[in-house]
Amino acid sequence: MKLATIRTSAGTRAVRADGGVLTELGFDDVGALLRSGPDAVENVARTSGAQHSLDDADFAPVVLDPGKIICVGVNYADHIAETGREPPDFPTLFAKFTDALVGAHDAIVLPSVSDMVDWEVELAVVIGRDARHVSPDRAVAVMAGYTVANDISMRDWQNRTTQWLQGKTFEHATPLGPFLVTPDEVGGASPDLELTCEVDGVLRQRSRTSYLVAGPTAIVAYASEVVTLRPGDVILTGTPGGVGAAMDPPVYLRAGQVVRTAIDGIGELVNECVPEMP
Ligand code: ZN
Repeated sequence: MKLATIRTSAGTRAVRADGGVLTELGFDDVGALLRSGPDAVENVARTSGAQHSLDDADFAPVVLDPGKIICVGVNYADHIAETGREPPDFPTLFAKFTDALVGAHDAIVLPSVSDMVDWEVELAVVIGRDARHVSPDRAVAVMAGYTVANDISMRDWQNRTTQWLQGKTFEHATPLGPFLVTPDEVGGASPDLELTCEVDGVLRQRSRTSYLVAGPTAIVAYASEVVTLRPGDVILTGTPGGVGAAMDPPVYLRAGQVVRTAIDGIGELVNECVPEMP
């Protein structure tokens, strides 16, 4: 099943996508749907409601207000190599705030205080059930599904200190969506999907989600040792090689450029970079 959150004249709405038709499900966003109960997704598999055309859809972040956005750094071997880091003994976890999120076709705001804004295509997991101390082999049962994220990173701010938060959570700069796709449609616990990032049509990143060092279920299990994961929480699993900071010389995003981040079987984010307004 494919779910999304769209903006309508009456506000945001959670919808189910069936081909080119989007059907409203009675919730303001996919997050509210997931929080309505442990079988929320199954319960809306065949419900009917007001319909919209996919062609006209204005996508909001697939979850508007995740309680937590947990991110994993340096989690593909080629990206670890290009950053010059050693393979980690443990997943590198950091976080974002919800103010960072934008929809699948929204603008990425280039902050006036940064001139090193970089791209990072990532597979993201959306949590569907409460999860605490869950084992890796049970983790897929607490996952509502997968979506696409672009973990836009302000490298000058990220690398000011050993903690990355300030370079990772600038406002209106992390596209998330357009669809939540349930695991059964894209390889279950171990998806093997091509993920790509293009800037103005030039391919910058191409890898497969099966090359993750710590895969989705390992990350969900690891994070659930720290804190209870709740429905609607989002986990970004890390980016493969090909980021702008690792190019020689480094290349960063400029106003007017369009970034396309995509994962086969899930969807694509197409976002124009715009300067921050004073
Ligand atoms: Zn990242």
